[in-house]
This record gives sequence, structure tokens and C-alpha cells, in this order.
Amino acid sequence: MREPVLFFDFGNVVGFFDYLRACERLAVGAGISAVQLRDDLVARGFANLLAEFESGRILPEAFSVRLMEMSSLSLDYPSFAEAWQDIFWPNEPVADLIASLKAQDYRLYLGSNTNLLHASFYRRQFARTLDLFDGFVLSYEVGHLKPAREFFEACVAVAGTPARSCIFIDDVAENVEGARNAGLTAIQYLDTPSLLTELAGVGVKVPPAP
Ligand SMILES: [Mg+2]
Repeated sequence: MREPVLFFDFGNVVGFFDYLRACERLAVGAGISAVQLRDDLVARGFANLLAEFESGRILPEAFSVRLMEMSSLSLDYPSFAEAWQDIFWPNEPVADLIASLKAQDYRLYLGSNTNLLHASFYRRQFARTLDLFDGFVLSYEVGHLKPAREFFEACVAVAGTPARSCIFIDDVAENVEGARNAGLTAIQYLDTPSLLTELAGVGVKVPPAP
């Protein structure tokens, strides 16, 4: 197997997402717009609740109950779960890059701040790409969120190779900094052409930019 080992963030790298898609379905019949629902949730502490969920401290059913309490909604759990999970669409140039890297025998891992509902959903929706991965480091499973050092230590442990032989690709600057602080090489994803340039700069064999 080739080194370095490559870690990809999911959200806004392998796939894009927008919570407004969930809010549009959640708000149906509630007499409130999707934007109003989103803004209300943000104002009432959604980020903290999501961090509890995505660090594995609460289960999906409890998250659903807490989100109902935080909003003016009253959905049962199956309805909530169906509305919540479908927020992703693919980043095709990155899917092409992943297929090329796998064909060259690079080891690929996903390193994602996520929750059981979203990860289960995107692993089905993106199976063609994600089935090429050797493993998954998911915040709700390892109990730590990026940019915490513990998250990146879990990545290194899964790779079974020194941190300096791991490259972490993430769109969020704080996560890039966290990866670097843990001794990994990190690249901030801005767009695919610049990612290809950055990867080539650290010796990864990438296809020519289209
Ligand atoms: Mg991201």
C-alpha cells in the first residue's frame, strides 16, 4: 500500500450539504417557514445540541425529543428522522479524484463530524464513492469532534501509521489547524483544482486537472 494515507472530511468535501433542506421538510404543516425554523433553532442553541449528538453523548431519539422541545415542532421520531437525514448532494470532481487515488492503491479514510442518522444516510447515498474507503472515523463513534486533538489521534490510530504519514483534507480552517497540531499534514479544501495542486505538492499522484 502506498503512503501517505489520505483522510477526507465529508461535509463540503466529498458531499455538499444544507440544513435548510431538512428545515423545509420539518416545517411542513407547522405554520412556519424553513428559514424561520432554522433561525429559531440557531438562536435557541442548536449548535450545542448538535455537538452533543455528534460527539455521541445523546442517541438519535433523544436528539429528536430535544429538537422538538427547542422548536415549535411535534413530529414523531420516524417522521423526524426521515426529514432530518436527506441534506446532501455529491461533489463529483472529488468523487473522481477518490476513484483515481483508490486505483493507485492509496489508503483512504473518511474523517467526519457527523451523527448516526446522517452517516447512515450518506453511506447509502454515496456508496459508489464511500465503498472505496478503507475505513471511517466518525465523531459520534470516537466520542470527539474536530478540531479536538483526540479526533485526529483516532485517525492516526486507525491508519496504523505515523501522523506525519497522514494527510487530512478539510474545508474548515480550524480543523486543518487541529490536524496540524496533532502532527498530520493538512490541506484546506477550497476547490478541486487547488486540492490537486496541493496534493501533487506533497508527492501524491493525482490525475491532471481537467
Ligand atoms: Mg466539512
